[in-house]
Amino acid sequence: MRLLNSVNIDSMLLRTELPSQRTQRLAAVRERKYKRLTVESEEQRQTRWANVRETRRRNRFLGKDEFISAIDVSADVSCSICKQLFYPKQRRNLQTSFQQDFLPSELVEMNKILTCSRSSANIRKLKVPSQAY
Ligand SMILES: [Zn+2]
Repeated sequence: MRLLNSVNIDSMLLRTELPSQRTQRLAAVRERKYKRLTVESEEQRQTRWANVRETRRRNRFLGKDEFISAIDVSADVSCSICKQLFYPKQRRNLQTSFQQDFLPSELVEMNKILTCSRSSANIRKLKVPSQAY
């Protein structure tokens, strides 16, 4: 709670800060960072640079082929409940034997069906999906 209050006060101070105060504050931040870097041990320096390299490697722009393969995803599978096409990330395997009283017998016989995430969530809550077959 005390931390939260100090954060709120800090953000309020930043909004009402004058340009000269901003320059002074940023100079103090730079000074603190410089002091921290001068007392840094070789091991700390190595760790810091390893983190920087890892972050840069992660953020590096993908090549054209990787970009095209990353966006080359389409909705190609049909939901067993609502019959709409869905993307691979929306795919859910629904165990039908647990909803025997709720689902039609032909779906219960299949034991496991492939559904979209919305239909799966509705069935688990025993709600009839708005677009059920
Ligand atoms: Zn569905």
